[in-house]
Amino acid sequence: MTTFSFELYPPRSERAEASLYASLAHLVAANPEFISVTYGANGSSREPSLSVLGRILAGTSVQAMAHLTCVGSSYSQASQLIREFLDAGVTSFLALRGDPPEGALETDAFLGDLGSAGELVQLIHRVQAEREQFAFHEVPGFPDAKRIASGSKVTIAVAAFPNGHPRSRSVSQDLDTLLAKEAAGANLAITQLFFHADEYLGFVEKAREAGVTMRILPGIMPVLSSQRLARILELTGESTPVALERELAAAPDEAAQRRIGIDHAIALGSEVLAGGASGLHLYTFNQHEPVLAVLRGAGLLDRQKESA
Ligand code: FAD
Repeated sequence: MTTFSFELYPPRSERAEASLYASLAHLVAANPEFISVTYGANGSSREPSLSVLGRILAGTSVQAMAHLTCVGSSYSQASQLIREFLDAGVTSFLALRGDPPEGALETDAFLGDLGSAGELVQLIHRVQAEREQFAFHEVPGFPDAKRIASGSKVTIAVAAFPNGHPRSRSVSQDLDTLLAKEAAGANLAITQLFFHADEYLGFVEKAREAGVTMRILPGIMPVLSSQRLARILELTGESTPVALERELAAAPDEAAQRRIGIDHAIALGSEVLAGGASGLHLYTFNQHEPVLAVLRGAGLLDRQKESA
């Protein structure tokens, strides 16, 4: 079955929070496989992230996926963080290394005990296994008896980079890293955004040849303005999609730019699906309308499930 999922970020003001929760209702109504919530660099959004995840867990039946980063943490801090999220009911994670602060050297003590996302994947499994070991369930009909809870596995996703991570030395380093993350226990990969279908499809082909077997979901972002394009290129280090950049720049107004961004994402999503992608992961920027328009255009939205 073709799936779709969404990414949200924790809101930074009360107004943004109200707007996010209004959008969340529409996103949930579309019945995604999961909704993921980003984690601010160096743990800056622990509470707001937990709050959005709690809202998804308490008010919906959609799987809530927590992004977690490990850069700058000791083992004990990272374990404590994982426990906190598990205690809140989260059983689905996107394990990331995260970025060191600007100017930090790889040798800095700040970088912490965990050197890669793969190590965080292992730690999440270990913390989960320890909890299971000490969790007891009631035995119906035997009030004094307790049995050890049987292992409920967590979903652990990881990041993948079709055009290479900006700091990796080669495509083979990126493939080795992805393979190592799967060997560490990851069971899903989500890609960095990209602008051409062959970048994703070629990467998946190479990953399969290298032995990666987990699903690799393409991350798709509708780019709704020239300013947003400039900002995401700065954040991700991706190369400029020249044709899209020109089209956005030539658009007469905001509405036209929006339409161009949505149409580009529809075409990209449709091409990767036609090329064998098992679903789409949509970067929402906390707005429901553009991503629902993309899903509708790519033929993934069941109109009956959309809210009025
Ligand atoms: P890894 O998997 O450990 O490494 C990825 C690749 O980069 C490998 O090839 C590795 O060898 C290479 N590499 C990494 N660091 C270096 C380095 N310093 N020098 C040389 N090579 C290096 N960040 C957040 O802070 N919060 C989020 O919520 C968040 N969500 C994300 C979601 C997705 C889908 C993606 C794709 C990225 C997200 N990021 C987020 C960004 C992520 O933290 C950065 O990409 C970070 O630089 C590396 O994390 P990783 O998990 O990819 O690292």
